[in-house]
Amino acid sequence: MDQSDDYYDKYVESWEQVRGTLRSGYRAYDYNYSPYFSDYNNLYTFIYDNINTAWDNLKIKPVYFFFNDSDELEAVAISRSKAITINKGLLERLMEFFNRYEAYLARPASTQPVVYRHLDMPVHSLMFQSAALFLYYHELGHIIQHLPGTDRSFSESRIGTSDPTFILEDNVMELDADDFAAYNIASHVVDHWSRLPEVARDQQTLEILIGLNIASAFIMFYVLSGERLKPIYFEAYDHPHDTIRVVNIIGKMVEDAKGYRKTKNFTLSSQSILGVALRIVKDTFDETIYNDFRATLNRDQPQIVAHFNMLKNEYKTRSWLAGNRMIASQKSRSPFAKIKQLWMNFITPLFS
Ligand SMILES: [Zn+2]
Repeated sequence: MDQSDDYYDKYVESWEQVRGTLRSGYRAYDYNYSPYFSDYNNLYTFIYDNINTAWDNLKIKPVYFFFNDSDELEAVAISRSKAITINKGLLERLMEFFNRYEAYLARPASTQPVVYRHLDMPVHSLMFQSAALFLYYHELGHIIQHLPGTDRSFSESRIGTSDPTFILEDNVMELDADDFAAYNIASHVVDHWSRLPEVARDQQTLEILIGLNIASAFIMFYVLSGERLKPIYFEAYDHPHDTIRVVNIIGKMVEDAKGYRKTKNFTLSSQSILGVALRIVKDTFDETIYNDFRATLNRDQPQIVAHFNMLKNEYKTRSWLAGNRMIASQKSRSPFAKIKQLWMNFITPLFS
């Protein structure tokens, strides 16, 4: 039995443990015969190990993960079962999107960023993994919000907008779950960057890697929103507008990437990283969404910043949010001050 069989067996076993607690709409996707077996299995392997080794301070276990056999574009956290699921349909739609980037990369290597030549995987695979991990970490953030100690009841939480009524609490929780995802993705990015050959290990490369991950999140929100950008809204819906979410994620990833000793002499800027991300979106995916996003940011920036700061102010009174729980669980460790500062940072305007 090789290692991948091993994790497939764990997947089947974990599903057997959780299935009895789920409502009938859920069914594990058996990826054994999928043409994307290795994508599914690699993702499951990462998630299984992450659940079981990375969160001892927060006492999250048990948490169950499965791919839901549905074509709806959804990822869900189910509190009663402590289960996280990403729908097969969403993952495969994301794969299709990122595979388009392969065609773009057929252009001469000299026109591509140098870092692409030094990566240990194709760029479109990296982007797919980043989007899938964002979905996982976002939903894990919701599971952490609802560990014992919360005063908020919750049954299921989806990553995309659904309820048109503005619910302050839900908006705060969504931004917190995004923060949690961005923080974790950024630590993977810095780790990845630090393992590149020395010739590629400079500030520009780090900016491009962060930009790729931002572009992944951007495309993922775009796919979840039915492949269009909603007109900007503030006090509406249960999730913040995609523009606000993307701006938040950039700020979070940049702040986190700055917090490491090996990057401390870099002057990473949100503006230039947003530029990298938007170029990828524009060149490879859809110029309209790029233009809409840019126009919204330029036109509505004061309100975006004000709304964002209002939501961040609400963080302080909710100790059960994932970011606040992480700070509390790490207080005896040295990065505490850094992380605390990172979490409490308000937005830096992108186009001031
Ligand atoms: Zn959510």
